[in-house]
Amino acid sequence: ADFNAMQFVCSAPTPRAFPAPSVAEVAFAGRSNAGKSSALNTICSRTGLARTSKTPGRTQAINFFTSESLQFADLPGYGFARVPPAVKAQWQALIEGYLSSRETLAGVVLIMDARRPLMDFDRQLIDWGSQQGLAFHLVLTKADKLSRNQQIKALRAVEREMPEATAQLFSALKRLGVDEARNAIAELANS
Ligand code: GDP
Repeated sequence: ADFNAMQFVCSAPTPRAFPAPSVAEVAFAGRSNAGKSSALNTICSRTGLARTSKTPGRTQAINFFTSESLQFADLPGYGFARVPPAVKAQWQALIEGYLSSRETLAGVVLIMDARRPLMDFDRQLIDWGSQQGLAFHLVLTKADKLSRNQQIKALRAVEREMPEATAQLFSALKRLGVDEARNAIAELANS
């Protein structure tokens, strides 16, 4: 897969706006501020490809990126502290609609802050998605904020709790784990 050639396709606020299913697609999920945009931009060697929505309460959308043989769906971040219930409901309908019915979806990359992995909604997403038969790759980002010892502890704890998923350490800041992430994404896309 050509990670360096990812191009923005469209921003879809409703399932009707999703691009027609074509090549294998990998979705990126995570809490707001976990480091998802930074991870995506690092994996694609592009600054500004993925952007963070810093405004809780704004209408959310799924952003699609594509290269020849691979497509990414950047899901809106979850877990803003004070979003209105209507926005939460819209988010959930969009994400559940996408994850449960996207024919070309090959797997989900879940981005988590290595200092706080597997928070409530992360677990819910993994449990619910696994029931739908989705494969997960868990990326513990901001690993540069932990000592080597803490990094290994965090990774082992996640692997122990979610044995059905693959997991890795990552840092956008230090460009740690980029090849590993690319390989895992290619695995998901080819499975
Ligand atoms: P998003 O909301 O999940 O898309 O998160 P962002 O990618 O916008 O990152 C949220 C904040 O974490 C920003 O201030 C980033 O600079 C910071 N951040 C993201 N990745 C890393 C990383 O690998 N290391 C460190 N130290 N900070 C990071």
